[in-house]
Amino acid sequence: MAINKELYERYKAMKAAKTANSSTGKNTSGNTSGGFKALSSTPSLSQTSSIESYSSPNVYSDNNTSEIETVQQNYSSQFVGLNQTSIIQNNKQDEIKQQYTGNVESIQTTNSNTQTIQKFALIGYPLGHSLSEYIHTAGFKSLGINATYELIETPPEKLSDTVKYLKSNGYTGFNVTIPLKLAVTMFLDEIDSSANTVNAINTVMIDTQTKFLKGYNTDATGFKKAIPQGFALCGKIAGILGTGGAARAAICALAQSQVKEIKLYTRNVANCIELLEYLRKTYQSVEFNAYQIDRIRDLSEINILVNATPIGMQGVSADYTPVEEPELLTLPADALVYDVIYNPKKTKLIQIAQRHNYQTVTGMDMLVYQALEAQRIWTGRTPDFKDMKIAALENI
Ligand code: NAP
Repeated sequence: MAINKELYERYKAMKAAKTANSSTGKNTSGNTSGGFKALSSTPSLSQTSSIESYSSPNVYSDNNTSEIETVQQNYSSQFVGLNQTSIIQNNKQDEIKQQYTGNVESIQTTNSNTQTIQKFALIGYPLGHSLSEYIHTAGFKSLGINATYELIETPPEKLSDTVKYLKSNGYTGFNVTIPLKLAVTMFLDEIDSSANTVNAINTVMIDTQTKFLKGYNTDATGFKKAIPQGFALCGKIAGILGTGGAARAAICALAQSQVKEIKLYTRNVANCIELLEYLRKTYQSVEFNAYQIDRIRDLSEINILVNATPIGMQGVSADYTPVEEPELLTLPADALVYDVIYNPKKTKLIQIAQRHNYQTVTGMDMLVYQALEAQRIWTGRTPDFKDMKIAALENI
């Protein structure tokens, strides 16, 4: 099988570094190498087509009433339909998941009518409660496509078996989450340019005839599409908190949107030097600078502030904000505050920003748009954003 040599070499180097460091008790997760970072060990969720054709996500987000209620009122008929589908899908997936425990080589499909059903999956480990199955099921339904979307828990040592299984059992595509987003490149025949800056694969397309596998990353597209259409990015200054996977998706989207400068806020500027070099070479028209995140005092130059750290996440640090209120208020009044975290729906950062009338974007829109982009890759068609978002909100 052909392997993307460049990414594979990086993966091998990172794996070797990780092994060496773990034997000396060091953690590599904060290090960067050649502009790329080793796979994070922190559990997390983890591009440019007719962007204009999507409806504005603001209709569904960032108001003070319950978001789900608003969407329910607007789309009551679809909502009922989705409810039923989700329940049916859940029961079926529970059955299938039980069969998948143990060696994935022994997985057998339960569909007697496999020819007419397209099969998709999410692989990663651990998968826990994933919104992907609900979002994708709703998307396929909106397209009238008869499809299944299964969760296949795949620890790294089972990755080879799972990929073989997916190829030989008629799957059309799959999503990839931690800790496999880089390791999966070893099994791909081609890697789309969307994965370059993000340095991770989250979507794979399988040619069911030739068994050719192509990997993509849809996070940068998801990030960009969630920004309100009226908010101009060209010539603006962006501030990004964090330098991990989500931050790289944001960098990629913002650089492609011709922002003038991207300021990276990190816990350790020294660790960012190689990343900065890589970004300056890759996006020569954009100025990149790095600052200590704990020394943020003045954000008056920033037009769009992005939180791409896990600070504010449910179960991790929901009561915290990466930027305290006094510093946040130094942003210009017309600045946009974007938090990539989708659970809770409104992080503390978003709550403070909304209290002071800043425009905001939540991670939920990014999450749904990246899934929508995956379905565009798999099916060549655009599923319904609203249906997918309702499914996500219903199941969060
Ligand atoms: P990651 O690769 O681990 O990166 C997180 C970054 O946050 C790290 O690189 C680190 O940057 C910074 N960071 C971590 N802990 C910090 C702390 N205590 N203080 C300051 N900075 C800290 O994780 P990720 O995959 O980018 O995910 C980050 C968040 O985005 C998660 O909440 C995840 O759920 C969310 N996410 C959402 C979507 C979506 O579609 N909405 C997609 C992907 C991720 P430095 O090392 O430079 O300090």
